[in-house]
This record gives sequence, C-alpha cells and structure tokens, in this order.
Amino acid sequence: MFHSIKTRLTLFYTLIVFLLFIISAGLLYFGLQKLLISQLDHELHLYADVIEDSYNPQNNSFEFLEEGTELSQAIRRDWVRILRTDSTIVFNSDRFAETNIRFPFKKAVQLKLHDSMYREFSTVFGRNYRSIILPVRNDKMKSNFGWVEVAKSTHDLYHPIKALRKLMVLATPFILLVIGLISYFMVQRSFRPLAGISKKINEISSSNLEDRLPVENPHDEIGQIAIQFNDLLQRLDMSFKKQTRLLTDVAHELKTPLAVLRSHWEQEAENELLPVSLRYKLSSDIEEIARLSKMVNDLLLLSQSEHKEPPFKFESVNMGILLNIVVDDMRVLAAEKKQKIVLDSDQPATVSADEHYLRRLFTNLLDNAIKYSPNGSEIKITLRQRDGMAETKIEDNGIGISEEELPFIFDRLYRSNKARSRRQGGNGLGLSICRWIVAAHGGSITVESEPDKGTTFSVFLPLTE
Ligand code: ATP
Ligand code: MG
Repeated sequence: MFHSIKTRLTLFYTLIVFLLFIISAGLLYFGLQKLLISQLDHELHLYADVIEDSYNPQNNSFEFLEEGTELSQAIRRDWVRILRTDSTIVFNSDRFAETNIRFPFKKAVQLKLHDSMYREFSTVFGRNYRSIILPVRNDKMKSNFGWVEVAKSTHDLYHPIKALRKLMVLATPFILLVIGLISYFMVQRSFRPLAGISKKINEISSSNLEDRLPVENPHDEIGQIAIQFNDLLQRLDMSFKKQTRLLTDVAHELKTPLAVLRSHWEQEAENELLPVSLRYKLSSDIEEIARLSKMVNDLLLLSQSEHKEPPFKFESVNMGILLNIVVDDMRVLAAEKKQKIVLDSDQPATVSADEHYLRRLFTNLLDNAIKYSPNGSEIKITLRQRDGMAETKIEDNGIGISEEELPFIFDRLYRSNKARSRRQGGNGLGLSICRWIVAAHGGSITVESEPDKGTTFSVFLPLTE
C-alpha cells in the first residue's frame, strides 16, 4: 500500500497540514490564555494601586477605608486585605476573613518597594483566585509600611479558555478527516493525467503508433513527459513505417525478376538436350525460387495490413463448408506425409468474413500442422460455438513450440529453432498473416503447445446473429 506514490503523498500532506493546524491551535490557545491573564493582572494592579495611593503616612490610615464611603462598602465584599510588616492586620475584607488563606510573608518580605507579585490560590470550596501583592510605601520614611493584597476569581478567566480547549479536542478528529480527504482529492486530481497516459501507453502497439498520449496541461511536469513521449512515438512511428516500406519496396522489386527467372528455368528444366544432372540441379533451384516467390508474395500481402483501408470484402461465410474446402485442398499435402486430417464440424456456425482471406488463414494453420508433425500422425480440426464466437481448433501431435519461443511466433519472419533446423522450413510469415486476418475480422487467435507433444491453435471469430 505504501508503494504507491499517491498514498505516500496523501499521508505526507495530511501530516504536514495537521501539524500546522496543531501548532496554530496551540499558539492560539496559549496566546489567549496569556492575554486574559495579563488583562486580569492589569485590573488587579489598578485596584491595588488605588488602595495603596490612598495611604496617608501622616496618620497611618487609608482614606478610602473611611467608614461611610461608598467605596469602603464595596471593598468589604471584595477580596482585599492590608497587612503591616509586623504581620498585624490593618484591613481584612469579609471574604479573606471567612476563608483562611495564609499570607505569604516570606515571599512578600523579599519584594522591592516598587515591585509587585502575583499568585494563585484556591479556597476549601475549590474556587480558584488570582491575587496581587503590592508593597505599601511610606514615602516619607522611604520604607515599607506593609502590603495590600487584592484577589479576583479566575473562573471567568479560565472559562473561555477551557471551552476553547474542549472545542479543539472535539474538533481535532474531524479536522484530521477533512484534511485527509482534501489531500486525497488533491493528490488524486494531480495524478489523474497519469492514469490516462498509462492507459494509452498500454493500448499503443506497433499497429497504432500514430496514437498520441493525452496532454492535459502542457506546462506541468506530467504534461512535459507526455509531450516527450509523444515525440518518441513520432520518431518510432516514422522509423517503423520506413522499415515496412523498405520491406515492401524490396518485395516489389524482387517479384518480377523472380517470376521471370522461374519461368526461364522451368523451360530449361524441360530441355532434353541438357544433361540430366544439370536439369536435376535446376529443378532444385526452382524449388528455392518458388520459396522466395512465396515469401515475396506473403510480404506484399502483409504490407496491406499497413493500409488504413483493409482489402476485405465481408459476406456471410458458413464455417463448416469453408473448413471442408480447406481440408480437401490440404489432403494432398498431408497424404505426402501419410497424415490423417479429421474434421469435426457438426455445429453450424456462420461468420461475416472475407472468404478468400479466411481460407488463407486456415490453410496457413493447417500447413504448419502438417509441416511440423511427423509422418503418419493425425491432425484434428474442431468447429464449435462458444460465447457468441465460432471457435476453430487445429490440433497436431508435432514438434511443439517451447515456452520461451511462444511469444514470438506471430512476429514477422520468426521461426523457432527446431523449425529452422528442418529442411522443409518456411519463411516465418504465415502466422503474421493469420494474426492480421483474425484481428481484422474482430476475432482472436491463441496457441497452446508442449515441445514434442503437439500444438493447438484456436481461432475465435464473431458469429453473425
Ligand atoms: P511460412 O508459414 O511463412 O511458410 P513458417 O511456417 O515457418 O513459414 P509461421 O507459420 O509464421 O512460419 O510459423 C512461425 C513459427 O512457429 C514456425 O517457424 C514454427 O517454428 C512455429 N510453429 C508454427 N506452427 C507450428 C506447429 N503447428 N507446430 C510447431 N511449431 C509451429
Ligand atoms: Mg507457416
């Protein structure tokens, strides 16, 4: 699963974006907390300052504490207390008086005159408070009269922070999912052109080298690769066409001289004035020329597969009758090797095809079966209907084809090692012609073979309804 670049990129994006989310959420959380605390501290400081400012060293009293003022009433309900350095209490609001919160003398003593300190404490009821401790200065004596401590509940402060934390924890899995999905679709989107390219590459073979890969965006990396690949295809196509043209040109050039040569030598072979040994040699040469002529004709036939318009004339063909004709034609050849051809074509099957080329197809296959099977063996042909197709099997008990050679036997001019070592060899064009004819009829051809046991070719052609 991790071998796929798509999966790795998706995971990578998700992780990076999620990490960024966590970092910014953390910054937001701690920033907000700090801001709220500093706001509370500011309020505490202002409050404590007012009290401290109202200290009158002349009579050692705090003006705002004077009974009857509105402020003194309010202050009694808040958290306020004033202590002297000798730890006697000057003022203790009801709140401080009720709870038994100890004053941190040790720390307060260390405070400089212009400093202040903050602390947090909780009551027995589990309520939390934050307070400021501010030294009360006796400016005249330049000494510390004592401290004022003012506290406020932190409930309002921590409430929004807690709510934010809860929200973040609850939202995290959802956000992770959303980030994952977005990454997945982004990666999928950017890789979409690749799927089209890979599909097209699979479709391209020597027969459709004119096809080109789709270029969705010529400016991105994938588009660039597709363009380069298309250039390569163009060059391949050109060199491929050049090659086949050369082959066809050569075949054209050879066709007439070979025919002339053959007819001359056939005449000479009949000439009784010539010595027998020479005439014998001539007739063996004529055989060679016949083989070359066949090759030239086959090459010219195959060159038609390069044309856009196939040369076929389609008509209804009864496969049973067609196979009977082919077998009759080939019986002479089989008889030379004392071979028996058994045809089983009970099932009727009609296909839309060019009869001439179909005969050529089955003649080539039967010719191979005869050529590559031992004397006296049996060749079996069966015609069946299968899945809307007419299936023709040609089975022999011949030399077979090795597994390594099987993928190449339909290639032009390919002959297996075993076949090459035999005298009665062909040119390696028969099966290329078969494949071309079958493909042009919308069918397929398959082969199964075992060396020294035999070979079975199966031809599938679409039945007419
Ligand atoms: P051509 O058909 O052009 O006269 P060919 O028979 O050698 O020559 P193909 O018909 O294309 O060429 O066959 C290609 C090769 O496949 C053959 O050379 C042979 O090695 C192998 N082959 C084909 N049919 C059989 C078969 N029935 N048994 C064993 N080998 C076969
Ligand atoms: Mg052949």
